[in-house]
Amino acid sequence: MRSFDYSPNPARVVFGSGTAKRVRDEVERLGHSRVLLLASPQLDVPAGQVSDVLGDLLVARFDGAAMHTPVEVTEQALDVLREHDADCVVAIGGGSTTGLAKALAVRTGVDQVILPTTYAGSEVTPVLGETEGGRKTTRSAPEILPETVIYDVDFTLGLPLNLSVTSGVNALAHAVEALYSPQANPIVDAMALDAISGIARALPRLREDPWNLDARGDLLRGAWLAGTCLGAVGMALHHKLCHTLGGSFDLPHAETHTVILPHAMAYNAPATRDVMARIAAALGVPDAPSGMYDLIVAAGGPTSLRELGMRETDLSRAAELATAKPYPNPRELTTEGIVALLDDAWHGRRPEAPTSDLTRLTEQVVESFSAAAGTRVATLLTDLVRHLHGFAIDNDLTEGEWMTAIDFLTRTGHITTDTRQEFILLSDTLGVSSVVDLMTNSRTPDTTPSAVLGPFYVEGPPPKAHGSDLAEGLPGLPLWADIKIIDTAGAPVAGAVVDVWQSNEDGFYDVQLPDFDGPVLRARFTTDDRGRFTFWSILPSEYPIPADGPVGQLLDAVGRHPFRAPHVHFMISAPGHQRLVTQLFVNGGAYLDSDTVFGVKDRLIVDFTPQDGPTPDGRELDVPWRLLDFTFRIAKN
Ligand code: NAD
Repeated sequence: MRSFDYSPNPARVVFGSGTAKRVRDEVERLGHSRVLLLASPQLDVPAGQVSDVLGDLLVARFDGAAMHTPVEVTEQALDVLREHDADCVVAIGGGSTTGLAKALAVRTGVDQVILPTTYAGSEVTPVLGETEGGRKTTRSAPEILPETVIYDVDFTLGLPLNLSVTSGVNALAHAVEALYSPQANPIVDAMALDAISGIARALPRLREDPWNLDARGDLLRGAWLAGTCLGAVGMALHHKLCHTLGGSFDLPHAETHTVILPHAMAYNAPATRDVMARIAAALGVPDAPSGMYDLIVAAGGPTSLRELGMRETDLSRAAELATAKPYPNPRELTTEGIVALLDDAWHGRRPEAPTSDLTRLTEQVVESFSAAAGTRVATLLTDLVRHLHGFAIDNDLTEGEWMTAIDFLTRTGHITTDTRQEFILLSDTLGVSSVVDLMTNSRTPDTTPSAVLGPFYVEGPPPKAHGSDLAEGLPGLPLWADIKIIDTAGAPVAGAVVDVWQSNEDGFYDVQLPDFDGPVLRARFTTDDRGRFTFWSILPSEYPIPADGPVGQLLDAVGRHPFRAPHVHFMISAPGHQRLVTQLFVNGGAYLDSDTVFGVKDRLIVDFTPQDGPTPDGRELDVPWRLLDFTFRIAKN
């Protein structure tokens, strides 16, 4: 459980499109009538609109705000404020103009109405950074917080794309560091994650259309939330580095945030795995730092300190300055660590995520199939490799476990012979055979359902005449089978070749019993003109699959029984028709609910009806017998 204190900052927020029209009302709401407007030449058009709305409330305008709030600029603005006896400042612009409004407020107590035109977030924080004699100092006080913020999305439409991207990432940085702040709390977490996903979705849309009002709205909303996070909890390494690089090396504010953020995240990632996982989810990527880097690249933002004009020789001094005084950060700060971070940022390297070696490896293997790209074999191998690698990674597989798996497969191979197919057993008991079978079924919904082939099919069973006996005198309850094959239109299929095989009364197939010389309980029939054939056999019984090999050990290891429900196998082939491989299960038989190869389908559970009257072919029997009367439906090609 984490403990926290939380006090929301009491700013009034008006958000939407066209909201600048409400600026006069908002000033009057605060009880003021003499406005000093802070703007800049770049924002002359919106400043003109706001002037019009303010009307006679406007007493003066000052356009000189500069980055990092130089005190000498504040002094000039202060003169204008006093000269015109202004009781309220209205500021239109980014963090620089907001900074000037705050600097005036902290000196005079004047109320502020801010109309932000970037995503810096300063308008909702009680923090002011000022520079004097080249030194930047930061302070926080309740009177610094603006009283009212009017977010008018229309005023951000003209923000140039490059500024929009860097300013958007500036906002992302507030949200990211809020999530691992020592003061983090559920409200700030929720705002931060919403800001991250909103901004991450908006930036790529903006690249396609910088005038997209919805994307601009998402960005501005994210900026408000992220700025609120910045105002509510303490920041860490990332903000400290940007502060140092901006203050001591004169690097531009939002651009520096954009270059540093992925690297600060990568530095802190080992100590903030949970937070990084939440950020990755909000970004919709597998890894947060590299995902952030990719987002910036895709949005066209800067990625290196070199391109911002920083000299490589200044990196170690920057690292020393940034680590000179201790401050809270989730991961211990070392000068070598920060030098390495700055070196990566200077070169613009993509952060190496802990999983990125693995990702690269997977991609290398996939790439090795590229000569066969587009073929079925390449498609299947690509997917197999991705799933196998993912399986190893997700389960944190050890070498010992993988060698056990290889030993298991080796033993599965060694035990396999012409009559013992351990790989099919493995496929059956893991349900893979049934997955393939169900997909096969779904392609021909009008036919009798198929079922798995199983491991006991033997090619080329002996042809038998209609009415002959498959059991050849073996003990068991006699079974008379009367089988018809029709197509999906109901027409009989003459000349269909049907292989039939089954277990004996004890549940064994002939290939499992060394005493048998040749095939027993297996035969090949050909249907007559009515699509029909008949034979005598015995009622099959439930049986265990061979459990003396690796598959049996696997079942043991998870407490599973090895039994199959009683059934007879059929393989039906006819010219012009699709082959059907299936099984008929004895209604009322054991293990219908827990067949160990998952092969039972309701439509294949059929009556093997008890009989005690005369037999259909006049065979003399002094015991009860069973009747299997079934019609298979097969599909044309
Ligand atoms: P900025 O305010 O300096 O604006 C950058 C440039 O973009 C300026 O030339 C500006 O005139 C122009 N501009 C702004 N909006 C425009 C628009 N809609 N259309 C066209 N041009 C536009 O940059 P910023 O990144 O918003 O703010 C950076 C400053 O804010 C830094 O001094 C930073 O320290 C401060 N800041 C303070 C806090 C805080 O909480 N105290 C938070 C974030 C930033």
